[in-house]
Amino acid sequence: MAGDHDNALGLYIAVPFCRSKCTYCNFASGVYPAGEHGRYVERLMEDMAAAGAWAGRLGVDLPRRVDSVYLGGGTPSLLEPELLKRLFGAIRAEFDVDAEITVECAPGQLPEAMLEALVGAGVNRVSLGAQSFVDSEARGSGRLHDRATVEADLRRLHGAGLANVNVDLIAGLAGQTRASWEESLEALIGSGVPHASVYMLEVDEDSRLGRELLAGGARYRAGLVPSDEAIAEMYLRAIERLGEAGVEQYEISNFSRAGCESRHNLRYWRRRPYLGVGLDASSMLREAGETSEPYVLRSAATADLKAYLDGSEAPETAWLSPARQHEEAWFLGLRLNAGVNVAALEAEFGRERVEPAVQTAERLAEDGLLDWDGGTARLTARGRLLSNEVFQEFLEAAGAQEDRGASPEAAPAAGRLTHSQTM
Ligand code: SF4
Repeated sequence: MAGDHDNALGLYIAVPFCRSKCTYCNFASGVYPAGEHGRYVERLMEDMAAAGAWAGRLGVDLPRRVDSVYLGGGTPSLLEPELLKRLFGAIRAEFDVDAEITVECAPGQLPEAMLEALVGAGVNRVSLGAQSFVDSEARGSGRLHDRATVEADLRRLHGAGLANVNVDLIAGLAGQTRASWEESLEALIGSGVPHASVYMLEVDEDSRLGRELLAGGARYRAGLVPSDEAIAEMYLRAIERLGEAGVEQYEISNFSRAGCESRHNLRYWRRRPYLGVGLDASSMLREAGETSEPYVLRSAATADLKAYLDGSEAPETAWLSPARQHEEAWFLGLRLNAGVNVAALEAEFGRERVEPAVQTAERLAEDGLLDWDGGTARLTARGRLLSNEVFQEFLEAAGAQEDRGASPEAAPAAGRLTHSQTM
């Protein structure tokens, strides 16, 4: 899908505080004293107030009209209600907000006063990090809740008028089996939530469980993590079962009832501008002014809380040339079930630039990784399981274009998108 270049902004606010650290977590989040919360919110407010001047210095557009706000982290519902009110007061003072407003919450960590504060602040969507409805799996991965807690929170949210809820599940938790995965899927469907995110466990050096899996240890139950094949089967089963229940896949990891797709996350995949504020938060903003081939600025804030709080590290920035944007258009667009429309890309980037990628798409279609009808490319089920390999092919196609003489630039910071900014 080509970039949908509107004049509105998505606003992402990172709140990196958690009550405990999950074993599989690879986000810039942690357990910090509540005393840090106030200072952190002050810094968020300072950054929002300074964002217009910052964008002006860099020469990028910063629309004032905001159509999605997303508080992710971390566990934003751990903030004191008073701080949440102040934060939303600042958001509304700096921007014109008529938006889908999502806040991430952890089950069992949503006090009544916070629920009231969320409703009072105009929040209209909640993302609940259940990860599993099976008690032993949730507890074993460091979550502090059980199934009854998740279900009670869902009822409370509904009762408070917050029915637009996403529930996260992870395929690949230690101790998970095909039968227990089925139990989680049925519980999610039974809850009636209109949106689900299903992630396959990521194994990397940035989580305790990932390090243990790589090193062969036992403390975080690495030996009980299902095989790659079993995780892939669980993922495919989720696509099938959720689809049967009317919660259709619209993106590699995201499923919704019609009309309940995450407006905020669609911005990332459609390459629409967003401003990220807070620890490790990323932004994507377009060059200001009338240019036939505008560059795009990506920036990423420090992931070091102390440096963020004292303002000692400026965000890293990188300019994306049209060739790089074209490359992103493929690997972000292919994440969506709607796929990539080549005519739209040609209108945006020119036929000559798109042609090598079309050849790549044709080749991947022959390999069974893409569906290609001559106009639109979509991942097949196998392509979704091997999506990183597919995306790499498009990086290579665009890299060859750069070598033929496009302007040199720093590598994009896209890999640093965080938490709900993860794609
Ligand atoms: S997974 Fe989410 S709730 Fe768990 S430690 Fe990481 S940021 Fe916090």
